[in-house]
Amino acid sequence: MSQQKSEKNTFPSVAGNFFYGEIDENTVFPFPSFSEEQKEMAKAMTDAVCKFAADSIDAAKMDEEAKIPAEVITGLGELGLCGLAVEEEYGGMALDYTLYARVFQEMAGIDGSTATMLGAHQSIGYRALINEGTPEQKAKWLPDLASGKRLASFCLTEPGSGSDAYSIKTKAVDNGDGTYTITGQKLWITNGGSADFYSVYCKTDHEENGKTVEKITCFAVVKGEPGSEGLSFGEKENKMGIRASETRAVYFDKVVVPKENILGELGKGFKVAMNVLNSGRLSLGSGCVGGMKAILKLATEHAAGRKQFDRPIAEFGLIQEKLTDMAATIYSLESTVYMTTGLMDRGMGDYQLESAICKVYGSESLWKVVDTGLQIAAGNGYMREYPYERIMRDSRINLIFEGTNEILRVFTALAGIRGPSESLKELGKISDVSSVLSDPIKSVGVLTDFAKSRFSKMMVTRALTKAHASLEEEANYFSGMLSGFAIQVENTLIKYGKDIIGNEFPQGRIANMTIELYVMLALLSRTTSILNSSDVDQKKKDYVSKMCKLAFHDSRRRFVSNLKGMTKNKDKMIKEISEMVVDNGGYGLDIIDY
Ligand SMILES: Cc1cc2nc3c(=O)[nH]c(=O)nc-3n(C[C@H](O)[C@H](O)[C@H](O)COP(=O)(O)OP(=O)(O)OC[C@H]3O[C@@H](n4cnc5c(N)ncnc54)[C@H](O)[C@@H]3O)c2cc1C
Repeated sequence: MSQQKSEKNTFPSVAGNFFYGEIDENTVFPFPSFSEEQKEMAKAMTDAVCKFAADSIDAAKMDEEAKIPAEVITGLGELGLCGLAVEEEYGGMALDYTLYARVFQEMAGIDGSTATMLGAHQSIGYRALINEGTPEQKAKWLPDLASGKRLASFCLTEPGSGSDAYSIKTKAVDNGDGTYTITGQKLWITNGGSADFYSVYCKTDHEENGKTVEKITCFAVVKGEPGSEGLSFGEKENKMGIRASETRAVYFDKVVVPKENILGELGKGFKVAMNVLNSGRLSLGSGCVGGMKAILKLATEHAAGRKQFDRPIAEFGLIQEKLTDMAATIYSLESTVYMTTGLMDRGMGDYQLESAICKVYGSESLWKVVDTGLQIAAGNGYMREYPYERIMRDSRINLIFEGTNEILRVFTALAGIRGPSESLKELGKISDVSSVLSDPIKSVGVLTDFAKSRFSKMMVTRALTKAHASLEEEANYFSGMLSGFAIQVENTLIKYGKDIIGNEFPQGRIANMTIELYVMLALLSRTTSILNSSDVDQKKKDYVSKMCKLAFHDSRRRFVSNLKGMTKNKDKMIKEISEMVVDNGGYGLDIIDY
């Protein structure tokens, strides 16, 4: 049980294959279930987390005081929660992706600030050390980080560089004596101040073809080590939510580090950061499952207990709609996250699309579910005496950090279409498709291959033969949507060519369709496994089967609306109105005048 990649067992991204209209059923069926060993471990750890939280975590007080007490961090460290993915030889729990996600989910369901602190510490803070560290680096720093004796921070964002992460300015200058001097500032760094270990992304100079070019390198800056005297911190930020987690600016004034503190290769830091964020996004997604389950529990208790018009409000249709929607959304996200972690544990080598999907779908589902839960509680929900408003404030950050959902949509579309655009390169060499048709002899080889693959996509076959018989209708819909999606991706590439890169309207729809396809697949896979199991009673089977069908058809509706939007939309008008809004400096109308 660990997150070490099994080299012999790697297979390609499931979501990446959607862009070719392909799916390897053997990778997603059966749904990756917990082994007996994993179940035992998960139960032991989540029980321990709940017990510790009941005794020691007062989320409302921590929110009020905007502070996580030191003894909470110490206690979490003693439980092993600060070193979930660290190999045992360095004092960690060596959990695989599935267990890591499940334990993280539990913590996030208890308190958003504590989960953020823990996530910033290990999901991203010292993740570069796990992924890239040499045995010497790991031996030097990991044991204290895994035990929670020292905290870690991930330092990428700067005042001028948020989403455009490559534009960072913090500079590490090679002193020519085996050391680098780091100067610059990082903004909104979680655990900034209290952490000892900072993974800092800096620009470094490189000679290429007689020119000096800047690339990114990741350095470990450790408080108290010689040369770190220039490390300082801004005031603690006064935030809307996750208030108990610490967020500060981090300043580097001629901080000197030895080259032994470089994490990964010199000049390859951007890739290091992206890989770190890929796994970070996954735990963020599982954390959203925890938050959603917590709010549904609260809202259900309220709906069952609160009487209006002489009846519990849970008996009113418009409240029933909400409870059902919340449960079905949780089922969808849980299936999506744990299909992903299971695929990663089975050896899916490239999971950047899947983890982005977990983050985007997770954060938006959480936000929707929290809003719905608060509406069920109504006035109580709005009062600080109850936890709903805190959970709402805490939830909002998930759509922003670790890559905003807009950036991740752009990323999902562009990373996904990279594959098919390579395959269509031959076509791209010919100035446009009509010129291909006007000279069919010259292009016959290209066109024949293209036509063959296109024809196979248009033949709506049953792509999912392994789905449970009672889900046949959904499986057939899925097959049709998958081929429709791949054809649309090709059409988009032919229509826009390389201009697709600057065209976010179709990118957004492609990303949305990718997300929905992946969610629908997770629903079909998990529900099939439950329905096929002899260990599950009929009542539970009915429950999941109904939730699957409901969530699937919601997802399908969103997919179809995005697919239709690819060819019939108001994009031009949207762009024009937005430009007018900017020209007006806002709305620009007053009812008095117009
Ligand atoms: C509480 C908190 C904790 C944080 N913790 C950390 C941390 O530990 N480490 C760290 O490095 N950073 C951290 N951050 C920073 C966080 O990752 C950034 O806020 C985030 O990446 C977005 O950057 P920005 O806020 O500058 O927004 P901007 O990049 O300025 O974006 C503003 C808006 O424009 C959109 N946008 C930008 N570019 C595009 C585009 N090309 N297409 C479409 N839309 C676009 C964005 O999606 C967003 O809606 C934290 C932030 C907060 C609030």
